[in-house]
Amino acid sequence: MKIGITGGKGGTGKSFVSTNLAILLKNFALVDLDVEAPNDYILLNEDLGEKIEEYTFLPKFDLEKCTSCKACQKVCQDGAIYFKKEKPYVFKELCSGCKACLFVCKFNAILEDKKYIGDIYINKKIKYGFPLVTGKLKEGEEKGFKLLLKTKKYALNHFKNIIFDTGAGAGNLVFKALEDLDLVFAVTEPTPFGKRDLKRILDITKYLNLKTYVILNKSNLGNKNLIKEVCKKYNVEIILEIPYSKEILESYINQKPYVLNPSGKKLFEKLINLILEVKNANSSR
Ligand code: SF4
Ligand code: SF4
Repeated sequence: MKIGITGGKGGTGKSFVSTNLAILLKNFALVDLDVEAPNDYILLNEDLGEKIEEYTFLPKFDLEKCTSCKACQKVCQDGAIYFKKEKPYVFKELCSGCKACLFVCKFNAILEDKKYIGDIYINKKIKYGFPLVTGKLKEGEEKGFKLLLKTKKYALNHFKNIIFDTGAGAGNLVFKALEDLDLVFAVTEPTPFGKRDLKRILDITKYLNLKTYVILNKSNLGNKNLIKEVCKKYNVEIILEIPYSKEILESYINQKPYVLNPSGKKLFEKLINLILEVKNANSSR
């Protein structure tokens, strides 16, 4: 079973929900797909673990063979190819490794090179008993897409039950992170920003036809009706309300997951029951 925890803007509490959920579920791998700023390992006070370096395609131009036709520059959606004195060069940081230039060049003037994009880390068994996988983009690297795909693929190849903690936003990276999952929880806050970002996420999950529930964080602050209106419009249920509390704040500060407290465990009960229900229904199909 594959679960996604997402939430539009950063700081809504995705990682808080993901880490606490993983502790209670135990037999799920937790995969941090927030490749630009992974932080599950920090919340769990764990090491990242073993490292696998990841690379992607980078064009290398054979300037002898190049006819300066500029077909490669035209096809490059990332604006990564530039010409100097009629010869092509690549902005390494902008190249997403899509290989479109390689396929379009009729003169075999493009060779395969590679660039380092970041790492996949695997901590096989953290102290709470589950594996933690983390995608971590190289500092200064602009394109997280390939690393996200590689991290997700690694997880899907190694684990049956997975919680994917997505990055912030509602763009390509989140779209790809959520694709083909069984169940999605959109974490939001009762604010106008929360409302706007929740709509964007629900548009994605609707498009991908994913069963989605909303988790309302800091539910005792702001205006809950803002979120209720969106949920009504998209026909999704608020499955969990997490109040802003001193106890939760302390759990962050002390890197001691909230569900280790009896009140935290109780709060997440409904969520856990729902997940187990869906899991059982999926496995009996
Ligand atoms: S497509 Fe090939 S031949 Fe044309 S400019 Fe690019 S590298 Fe040179
Ligand atoms: S691999 Fe893709 S992104 Fe990189 S230079 Fe070629 S066309 Fe552009």
